[in-house]
Amino acid sequence: MVLYCIASGLVLFLRPDLSSRLLTPWIAGFVFLVFTLSYLTLFTKDRSNGFSFITLGVIGLNFLMQMTGGNGSPLFPLYFLPVSIAAIQHRVWAFPAAGLILAIEALSMLLTAPYEPHQWYAFAGFAASLAGVALITSYITHGIRNEAKEAKDSYEKLLSDAHAVDPLAGGTNVEALTEKSRQATHVSVAREREGAFGALIDMISGILPAHTYALFLDDRDDGVFSLRGIRSQSRSASSGTVEFARGNGLIGICAARNQPQYLPYMVIPTKSLGYYSHDVPVKSFLAIPIVQGDRVAGVLAVDSLEHDAFPADTQETLTRFTPFFSQIIEKSRISMELDIRAKNFAALHEMSSVLSNSLEIAEVLEQLTDQIRSVVPCDFCAFLLYDAKTKEVIITALRGYDRRFIGSRFPLEQSAILTHMLNQWSDRRVYTIHHDPELGDRGREIGLFPMKELQQPLKSLFGRPLVAHDRFIGAAFLASMRSHAFTDYHRNFMDTLLNQVSLVVDNSMLHRRIRDMARTDGLTGLLNHRTFMEKLSEEYKRLDRDPRPFSILLMDIDKFKAVNDKYGHPVGDVAIKAVAKVMKDTARGSDFVARYGGEEFAVGMVDTDSRGAAQMGERIRKMLEKTLVTRVFDGELRVTVSIGVSSFPGDTKNVADLVTMADNALYQAKRSGRNRVCLHQDMKDADVAPAKPGR
Ligand code: GH3
Ligand code: MG
Ligand code: MG
Repeated sequence: MVLYCIASGLVLFLRPDLSSRLLTPWIAGFVFLVFTLSYLTLFTKDRSNGFSFITLGVIGLNFLMQMTGGNGSPLFPLYFLPVSIAAIQHRVWAFPAAGLILAIEALSMLLTAPYEPHQWYAFAGFAASLAGVALITSYITHGIRNEAKEAKDSYEKLLSDAHAVDPLAGGTNVEALTEKSRQATHVSVAREREGAFGALIDMISGILPAHTYALFLDDRDDGVFSLRGIRSQSRSASSGTVEFARGNGLIGICAARNQPQYLPYMVIPTKSLGYYSHDVPVKSFLAIPIVQGDRVAGVLAVDSLEHDAFPADTQETLTRFTPFFSQIIEKSRISMELDIRAKNFAALHEMSSVLSNSLEIAEVLEQLTDQIRSVVPCDFCAFLLYDAKTKEVIITALRGYDRRFIGSRFPLEQSAILTHMLNQWSDRRVYTIHHDPELGDRGREIGLFPMKELQQPLKSLFGRPLVAHDRFIGAAFLASMRSHAFTDYHRNFMDTLLNQVSLVVDNSMLHRRIRDMARTDGLTGLLNHRTFMEKLSEEYKRLDRDPRPFSILLMDIDKFKAVNDKYGHPVGDVAIKAVAKVMKDTARGSDFVARYGGEEFAVGMVDTDSRGAAQMGERIRKMLEKTLVTRVFDGELRVTVSIGVSSFPGDTKNVADLVTMADNALYQAKRSGRNRVCLHQDMKDADVAPAKPGR
């Protein structure tokens, strides 16, 4: 780069006879340098190339000047550009940039027009104005930069103050609210507190003059004292973060001993006080502890440029002020706590409205998990419902965990925690809140879920049973990867919320039971006729949009009247139940099975053509042949069935005909000897050849 500069500056333009031949390599070199520098700046960490660009700019401009008439070029004022850019980039760069330009131009003048004084006058004028521009731009950018830096510093300080004024004991509770509202609350309280401290220090300074007043507080209660307020006559008093651990430095010693520390004749360097960025001729220093209850919550430091500025009586006056600091600290804690409680109350209110909105339990709980997470700092949240009939636990809502497990079930005894909860409830009718703040390394095997995928490295766990109308209906769990994540406040909050949740879940379960009762047949538990028809018409609509194979199977028990007549109705009912069970066991999850009439059954089979439906029918038929219904006085009762099948689109494109067709096929099965499956499509064959032997 340097070689290129010399070559381009001296050889090329000062020897016009060479220029024409060297022009192309000159431009190539220029472009090469620009590319190399750009590459270095963009793709490597080497960011110190700013001035190189300016140098290249100056050379480029010089080239332009030479091309457009040398010293008399109308483009001459363009030289102000690199100087201004240099100043904006880095304020001191303006001067070498100006120097470079002047050097190049002076050299060029020396070699081309050494004896023309008027040109030198013009050059001097140009040099002066260039220097002026360099000075002014660098001054202005310096000012702007300083202001930006101050604004940034004070913003950062405000944020750090804001994080420090946390009302609930322990730093972890900062997460008790959503990030945004938390920040807002903290910022407003921090502002207020800072104002109050400022006013108090103003008051003190009126009574007790000092060079600097510095207030250090242990807001996080972790023994670290941070600078939270400063007033000084010195410009080098710090506005950044300054911290002392208990026992460290004069501030830390004052806090650790809970005793004023007074240095009437300072000999140690002022920088060790922490809050000065440069040395200040401080001659005396005093630190006074600010006590709150039985702990040192802060330290007030004052210093003076005079020796022994704070004798005993002054110290006592100052000590009288320290309770006011405590009060401000306390007040802002309370104000913050109230604010957070108000916000949590609003959240609770919102949750209540979710609870009363809908009766679909899973949906409600799902929404609730989200909202709980805005108040309680949990990484995981789970709602588990208990099915007392099957003694199974149903995972109803999950957050943080693998959501594929929503809806899965496991036997209650596989969960140690839930078993314990249920036992406690059954034994004593009191529910216990499970609260483990420090799981340590046990996190994965705490005995909540039997599934490996749901075992997480937890550090704290909170669980509470859901109990309504004297019944144990499930439990809610919150878990965190941090230990001691849940405070008493969170526990109370969850307790209140879950009382309400229990009732809502119970209501909604009742609602579901009633709905199921209306949809199913009481004897068999299968869908009833009405629901079957409803499902059928839903399915027809779907087939209309998206035609896929669909089959209907109708089934009737053979000679059932005889069973009733011989053994009585109750035995008949047992047979109906047995048939229903075989059907339930044989059907796939997507099939819908119904008790169509007295001893008639129907199955709707999606994505199934007549072949698949016939296989299914045959399976049911064979199974029933083998099934012992019950023992009767004269031996064993077994029943057989006749089955008719119709399919879309094989038998008809008109879905409305399917039931009739299946009914016809069933009739055909009865007519041709019972205990068989008959397809509608076979029936057509029979119609074509009615006299087929064997029928
Ligand atoms: P088929 O082989 O032709 O079907 O002869 P079947 O005797 O079964 O004749 P049908 O299907 O007409 O008989 C229906 C009988 O089923 C009438 C009734 O006594 C009996 N039944 C209907 N509903 C119930 C019920 O809920 N419980 C009992 N025990 N019997 C029922
Ligand atoms: Mg019948
Ligand atoms: Mg019958």
